[in-house]
Amino acid sequence: MKPFDFVQPRSARDAVAQWGPDAAYLGGGTNLVDLMKTGALQPARVIDVTRLPGLDRIEVAADGAVRIGALVRNADLARDADFAVRAPMVAEALLAGASGQLRNAATLGGNLMQHTRCPYFMEPDAACNRRAPGTGCDAIGGAWDNAAILGHAPSCIATNPSDLCVPLAALDAVVEVEGPDGARDIALEELHRLPGDAPERETTLAPGELIVALRLPAEAAAFAGHARYLKVRERTSYAFALVSAAAAMRLEGGRIAEARLALGAVAAKPWRARTAEKMLAGQPPGPDLFARAAEAALAGAAPAEGNGWKIDLARRTAARALAAAAAGTPERMPALPASPFSLSEDLSHA
Ligand code: SF4
Repeated sequence: MKPFDFVQPRSARDAVAQWGPDAAYLGGGTNLVDLMKTGALQPARVIDVTRLPGLDRIEVAADGAVRIGALVRNADLARDADFAVRAPMVAEALLAGASGQLRNAATLGGNLMQHTRCPYFMEPDAACNRRAPGTGCDAIGGAWDNAAILGHAPSCIATNPSDLCVPLAALDAVVEVEGPDGARDIALEELHRLPGDAPERETTLAPGELIVALRLPAEAAAFAGHARYLKVRERTSYAFALVSAAAAMRLEGGRIAEARLALGAVAAKPWRARTAEKMLAGQPPGPDLFARAAEAALAGAAPAEGNGWKIDLARRTAARALAAAAAGTPERMPALPASPFSLSEDLSHA
């Protein structure tokens, strides 16, 4: 491993001040350290932010909005009973990701900032425009077919691997950042970038900006009674998604008053399907409607590298997630036998 400076600031402001060329913030280390070990990433300075005070809290505001500190561990957020009641599909996505050990270490901020799992990105000897701008893209014509089907470019066909970001995008989460020019908010949906001609710019964060918290608006709880995250993967645990879908809806008088739908592992960012959401609003739920909405969600899809199968899989996953959401959030998540999901009356029928 290449030698690097290691600093442990005691405040977010100090952390930002420590930023410099080739610096990296370190949270749980479940992604960055792996990439440093292989040599795929070689930061000159590692800024350990795990000691920053006050970023490990889950706080509920008077209006019902939830603020989650960037250092809250994935496992702690998923197992927070009050949070699971307010945002069950976020908890479901968290528990669908990685392994128990990794969820105990991984942080919210780190999850949002994790890199693609494109195997050529992780292999330092491979050509990769995202890791080494201008070198090319060995995934094109390579041996990896879990590439993007939406929003990809000739420069890069990678996907964002996060489960967590998918329901967060659907629920209009907002990211709070501190940076050299002060604090600002970024809609989660705007945090990750499509590759375009600059795939090395994975997010819209400016150099040195640090995620300090994430806010879920109070309105997110209105979807708690009909919300599911469905992840399709090659094995039932410890695997990244082939495709995933976060689906939620508010039902009123037997019709869908409002719907939310986002897809995961299909693009370099969580993919909010707003056209499908509009199509669902005002309609009585049913399989034909869900099939048409899923078709609309994938309308612009194109296979990147022999992965046309992903388009059909994503369509079916979206339709199935919508059907599962319409059926109602279960008190116990089938994929999570130990999870204590139990919806209170006021939230489940809001
Ligand atoms: Fe790199 Fe993107 Fe090509 Fe993968 S798909 S090798 S991340 S440029």
